[in-house]
Amino acid sequence: MRAPGNGCHIWTGAISDGYGRISWRRGGVSRTEYAHRFALLVAGELTDGAIGEHRCNEPLCVRVDPGHLIASTQSANLLYAVACGRTGIIRNATQRHDRHARSLAVREAVAGGWDSGAYARASGNTAPLGEPPLF
Ligand SMILES: [Zn+2]
Repeated sequence: MRAPGNGCHIWTGAISDGYGRISWRRGGVSRTEYAHRFALLVAGELTDGAIGEHRCNEPLCVRVDPGHLIASTQSANLLYAVACGRTGIIRNATQRHDRHARSLAVREAVAGGWDSGAYARASGNTAPLGEPPLF
């Protein structure tokens, strides 16, 4: 689901651990990957050891764009997360559950088409889309 303008491209497929998941078969081998990592892979930007960093702070975003999803390193991602007020590392089962529940709510909110109000309520992101949340 593409938000209008410079907004997120919200993954509306399978979700695992709060992130989009995609599975595919190639050469008789099945693979499963996080949707945002797959987006970077297809864009040719996922090098060995790279991780996906959500500059937009939307775990379901698969828009490869400097304002949304970039290939990064674990340490850079952690610094950015801290700068945004995110902890970066999900430290316990409750936080992991919260992220998963939030992602399910976001997917549900945009399943029938883009709805800014429904997205804001489900995601907790009240900043204009395309701008990093302030908190
Ligand atoms: Zn985004």
